Amino acid sequence: MSEPIFPEPETLLEAAIQALPVGVVVHDRHGHCILANAAARRLGDKAIHARPAAAVGERDVTNVELIDDRMVETQTQPVLEGRTGLTLTTLTDVTHHHRIQRELLTKAFIDALTGLPNRTMFEQSIADVLAGSTPGDQFALAFIDLDNFKHINDYYSHAAGDALLRKVSDRIGGALRQTDLLARIGGDEFVLLLAPIADADEALAAVRSISERLKQPFFIDGHEIFASASIGLSLFPEHGDTYETLARQADNAMYRVKGELKGGVSLFDDAMSQAATARMAVEQRLRLAIRDRCFCCAFQPKVDMRSHSVTGVEVLLRWRDELGMIQAPGEFIALAIELGLINEITLQLLTETVRAMPDIDEVFGPGVTVSLNIAAKQACDVPFMTGFCAALGETGLAERFVLELTEEAFFTTGHFQREVLPKIRAIGARVSIDDFGVGYSSLAALADITADELKIDRSFITDIDKRPRSQIVLKAIESLGAALGMTVVAEGVETFEEVAYLLGATQIRCAQGYYFARPLLLDQIRQAEPRQPGSRVPATRSRASELRISSQLRRA
Ligand code: C2E
Ligand code: CA
Ligand code: CA
Repeated sequence: MSEPIFPEPETLLEAAIQALPVGVVVHDRHGHCILANAAARRLGDKAIHARPAAAVGERDVTNVELIDDRMVETQTQPVLEGRTGLTLTTLTDVTHHHRIQRELLTKAFIDALTGLPNRTMFEQSIADVLAGSTPGDQFALAFIDLDNFKHINDYYSHAAGDALLRKVSDRIGGALRQTDLLARIGGDEFVLLLAPIADADEALAAVRSISERLKQPFFIDGHEIFASASIGLSLFPEHGDTYETLARQADNAMYRVKGELKGGVSLFDDAMSQAATARMAVEQRLRLAIRDRCFCCAFQPKVDMRSHSVTGVEVLLRWRDELGMIQAPGEFIALAIELGLINEITLQLLTETVRAMPDIDEVFGPGVTVSLNIAAKQACDVPFMTGFCAALGETGLAERFVLELTEEAFFTTGHFQREVLPKIRAIGARVSIDDFGVGYSSLAALADITADELKIDRSFITDIDKRPRSQIVLKAIESLGAALGMTVVAEGVETFEEVAYLLGATQIRCAQGYYFARPLLLDQIRQAEPRQPGSRVPATRSRASELRISSQLRRA
C-alpha cells in the first residue's frame, strides 16, 4: 500500500487560505495588499486595497463597513506582533445577518401599521428620558384613546379603520416638536411624550390642540369620517417619577374623560387616584366573591298582562357581600365585564339556576322559560360562548333557556351572528334582544337580527301613557317586532296606567316590572307565600303561577 501523497505544507496552506469562506488580506506597512484570497477578491477592489495603514500596529480592530452594497465585518491584527509591519485582515460578509437583525428590530420596536414606535420602544425611550433627567426638568405623558373606534371599524371596514389610524397618527405627529415622542400602544391607543414642557398649561394647550385637530373630518375611501379622542395627561415629576406611575395616572385621567365627555382632555388629579384605588378594591372583592361563590340569583317574572300568568322568569345577578347584604349589579357589573370576571360569574349563575330549577317550577309554574343575561362582550367571546353553550347543553334544559343580549352583541366585531348564534340555536336555547331602543342602531338594524324576543327598554315604557311621541316610536317597534316574528316584552312596567295603556293601545301582551313583581331571591318568595303548616310547598301554587302577585310581594 502506498502512502497518500500530500502537497508541500506551504502549498497546502495556500490552498486552504484560498478556499476559506472568509476573506483574508495581508497588507504591508505602507498599506499595500500583498495577499488576498478568493473570498476577499470576490468582495471587490475596495475590500482589498483600502485597508487603512492606521490599523497597522494596533491589535484586533473590529469594524463593520459598507463595502459597495455589502455589509462587511472586518477584523485587523498585526502579523507576528508587529515586528514585520504586516497586518492581517479578515473580511466576513454579514449583509444577510444584518438584514435579518434589522427586520427583527423593526418588528420588535415599530408598529407596522403606522410606522410609529410601539409600546416596547416607547417604554425604553421614556426610561432613558427619566434616567437622563436633571432636577427642574418637566415633561408630560398623554394617553390618547380614539372614541368609538370599534363602531367606525364595524360600520365602514377594517381597511378604513386602518387608514384612519394612519391618518390619526399623521395628524398627531404633525403637531409635534422634534423632541416629543409618539407611539401606538394598542388598537386605538396612542401615547405621547411631550418633553420638555414649562408647566401644566403648556402641556394642556398642546393636547387640546391635538384634540381639536382630530375632530376635523377625515376623508377615507370617499367617506367623510368624524372621529375624536379622549386624552388623559400626567406630569413628571408632579404626578410620579416612574413610567408605571405616570402611565397609570394618565390612563386614569383618560378614563375620566371617557366617562364624562368623550373627545375631551383631562389632567390627572388626586381624586382620580382615589377613584382608581376604589376600583381596585372592588376588583379585589369581586375576585374573592367569585372564589367564595358569593353570587346568587334573583328572579323576576315575565307576565302575560291579560291573564297575569307567568310566562318566564329573568335571572338577575345579586352579590351577597361581606356584611351579608344583597347587592344589585348596578355598582359592580360594569367592572366585572371590563375585567372579564363576568364569564366566571355567568357560569356560576347557570349552575345556581339549574340547581334552583325545581323551585322555579314550583313557584312560577312548571315549564316557564328562564332568561339569563349575557353581556355583549361575552356574547362575542367565541371561546367563552362555546364553553357556555356546551355547559348549558349538558344540563338537558337548554330549551327552557333564553339568552338576553343587547343589540350591541349582534353588531360589534362580527363573531356573534356567524359563530355564536348557531351554537345557541343548536342546543335549542333562544335569544332575546335586551334594552331595545337605547342602542346606537336600533330600528334600522332590527331587520338583520334573528331573535325570538324583543325587550323594550324601560326608558320607553315609563309614563308611556303620558308621552305621545314615545307612543309613536313604541308602535313602530311593536309592529316591526311582530312582523319579524319576535315576542315583544315591555320592561320596567311600574304603574297601572302603563299597563292600561299597553293593553288598550298596543298589541303587546308580555311585561316585566315592579307593578307585577320585583326581582326576589327564592327564599324571599317562599317567605311571602303563605305556607301550609309542615309543608315545604307554597300553599297557593296555582296562585303563584297566576301571579296576581300579591300586594305583599309588591311591597317586598
Ligand atoms: P336588565 O337586564 O335590563 O334587567 C332589568 C333590570 O331592571 C333589573 O335591574 C331589574 O331589577 C330592574 N327592573 C325590573 N323591573 C323594574 C321596574 O319596574 N322599575 C325599575 N326601575 N327597574 C326594574 P338589576 O337587577 O339591578 O340589573 C341591572 C342590569 O344588570 C340588568 O339590566 C342587566 O343588564 C345587568 N345584569 C343583571 N344580571 C346580570 C347577569 O347575570 N349577567 C350580566 N351580564 N348582566 C346582568
Ligand atoms: Ca335583561
Ligand atoms: Ca333590560
